[in-house]
Amino acid sequence: MRPDALTPLFASAQTITGVGPRVLTFLKKALRLPPGVAEPRVIDLVWHTPTGVIDRRAEPTVAGAVPGTIATFKVRVLKHRPSPRGNNKAPYKVATEDDTGRLDLIFFHAEHKFIERQLPEGSERYVSGRVERYGETAQMVHPDYIVAPESRGDLPALEPVYPLTAGLSGKVLVKLVRQSVERTPELEEWQDPNILAQRGWPGWHDAVEALHRPLDPGDISTGGPAWQRLAYDELLAGQLALALVRQSAKSQRGRSLKGDGSIRKRLLAALPFSLTNSQVTALAEIETDMASDHRMLRLLQGDVGSGKTAVALLSMAIAVEIGAQAALMAPTEVLARQHAETILPLAEKAGLRLGLITGREKGKPRREVLSRLAAGEIDILIGTHAVFQPDVVFKDLAFAVIDEQHRFGVHQRLALQSKGGNGGANVLVMTATPIPRTLLMTHYGDLDVSRLTEKPAGRKPIKTTMPADGRIEDVVDGLRRMLAQGAQIYWVCPLIESSDVSELAAAEERHAWLAQLFGAEHVGLMHGAMKGVEKDAVMAAFSADKLKILVSTTVIEVGVNVPNATIMVIEQAERFGLAQLHQLRGRVGRGDRQSYCLLLHTEPLGVTARKRLEMMCETEDGFLIAEKDLELRGGGELMGARQSGMPEFRVAGVPGFEELLATARDDATMQLNQDPTLASPRGQALRTLLYLFECDEAVRLFRAA
Ligand code: ADP
Ligand code: MG
Repeated sequence: MRPDALTPLFASAQTITGVGPRVLTFLKKALRLPPGVAEPRVIDLVWHTPTGVIDRRAEPTVAGAVPGTIATFKVRVLKHRPSPRGNNKAPYKVATEDDTGRLDLIFFHAEHKFIERQLPEGSERYVSGRVERYGETAQMVHPDYIVAPESRGDLPALEPVYPLTAGLSGKVLVKLVRQSVERTPELEEWQDPNILAQRGWPGWHDAVEALHRPLDPGDISTGGPAWQRLAYDELLAGQLALALVRQSAKSQRGRSLKGDGSIRKRLLAALPFSLTNSQVTALAEIETDMASDHRMLRLLQGDVGSGKTAVALLSMAIAVEIGAQAALMAPTEVLARQHAETILPLAEKAGLRLGLITGREKGKPRREVLSRLAAGEIDILIGTHAVFQPDVVFKDLAFAVIDEQHRFGVHQRLALQSKGGNGGANVLVMTATPIPRTLLMTHYGDLDVSRLTEKPAGRKPIKTTMPADGRIEDVVDGLRRMLAQGAQIYWVCPLIESSDVSELAAAEERHAWLAQLFGAEHVGLMHGAMKGVEKDAVMAAFSADKLKILVSTTVIEVGVNVPNATIMVIEQAERFGLAQLHQLRGRVGRGDRQSYCLLLHTEPLGVTARKRLEMMCETEDGFLIAEKDLELRGGGELMGARQSGMPEFRVAGVPGFEELLATARDDATMQLNQDPTLASPRGQALRTLLYLFECDEAVRLFRAA
């Protein structure tokens, strides 16, 4: 059970004054929530780390103030000059002064009562904001702070600046975060006092305070002691959780899954192709893992289009051959359904019974799947996050495959393992992303890796070009010819930073234009705001070759498989990262016909952007592209985490990360060697740390042991 001390942190953000349903929707956008968390909580505000500070420490005289800077003044309020009646354009002015000169405070569209209350004539006030010069007088438009001398403490000397979202102002967010920090409890120290002393790190509570109520700009630096301490906390929690998983996996014998090969044989016969050498090797490695009495945890890495799904299906068959069950989890509903569709015809031939659980299966159909699952009448369950729900109970889950794992967190993997009987399920994680070694270690600890290094035979290289967007008419002419030959086309609309609205608008506009050119019945549109059923319908029409062109935002990024689609047009390709471009391009080149990728872009390109696009034209090798990507983004920076799709850290993305990680790893190993059940005083405190970083499942392993 989570310690009571942490309860206030895990309450809904709605328990904070000022957060109602409206603000909550804004918070959902502004805060980075861990996978599977639908509603922001107090803790998510605590982890909403500042990106900078507004420095209000300068307290010049009015005469000595530098125009254009942020400053704080102590002034006397002289006289109010409200805007004349009926003239809303003229501002409300309040004249103030100090001993050196006059400062006018300017308010537009002001509420008169409010100003009168804030700035009574004859009173003294501290005001803080950007000072400007207007002719002879100094002025300040809409001061950020107006406080009476006795409330001086309400005016922060250094005000943290947070990542925002439309609808939520910095000032509001500061207030919400501040309240969440006030709910932060003092906790027993879990760090070794030696390391704290050595590195000059504060306690946890003080570190949180320093980050959100900085007294010095260094307090919010990622290299500063407060942030480093919190980063280390997060890494230690992660390493401890992984070490616990390892420990419990070792202590528990898994069962040896051998199978008689009968279902695999039927599947192989049903597949319309023979396996590549890489697929055969990967499968053999998986078979060996499953046959041993250790619990399997293996990563299957294979570039887009390398055929991971077939490997997954054949390995799931092993579990079914011995009479147990398997599960296949995809990160999105579209992908889960697609997996179900591809697998269904093969499954029917091999006598496998499938079930599907996503967020959309509700009511009676859902209950039916659940009861068949519990009765063992489903051999393979395909689904999304919904599979993690507690009421999804297997009769005997022996093997779970997680596709494109990066959308799931480590914690969910743990949750999944706990659904398996007999010491947990064997797990195969599949990803198209070449994950750097350090990241692997962070998120998986020691796991085994299989690689699909070759593409299925007969694939032609994708021809990639980079036409400037001024040539869009030529591009369209070319497409017309290709369409006449039966080709299908993906058209991806630009990524627009932080605005779903304009992203959607751009896609709709492009869709309308192409529909006009090629006929509305041939052009489909898909975007993130569509309902699941709507997306399915569009995807199904495109798969069935009824739609010739699919215009979309980046929702098609992962996994979609329509072998007949041979052309990928990406608009404003310069806005995408290399990894993402590679993923997108991987949607074509899946059959034996010649495929093309067109990277439309706006000239002139920046140096790095040009290098990225040229790289795409030169190679299709995902590993090479990933390496180049790291290089272009300033080598080794872990912060590539976002692009490489790994779950993001809350605070651990800091300079010196690798060293901190190695230290945390040693620390975790040593601790568990000395105190395998975390029973010592430090062990107890570490349990709290695990809960703080939501590794609840890891703590639960103790009970299993
Ligand atoms: P990914 O690794 O990107 O998930 P998929 O599993 O979707 O790739 O496979 C891509 C395409 O290649 C699919 O159409 C699949 O049927 C096909 N495929 C898989 N393995 C082979 C093979 N050995 N020979 C020919 N085609 C294959
Ligand atoms: Mg796939």
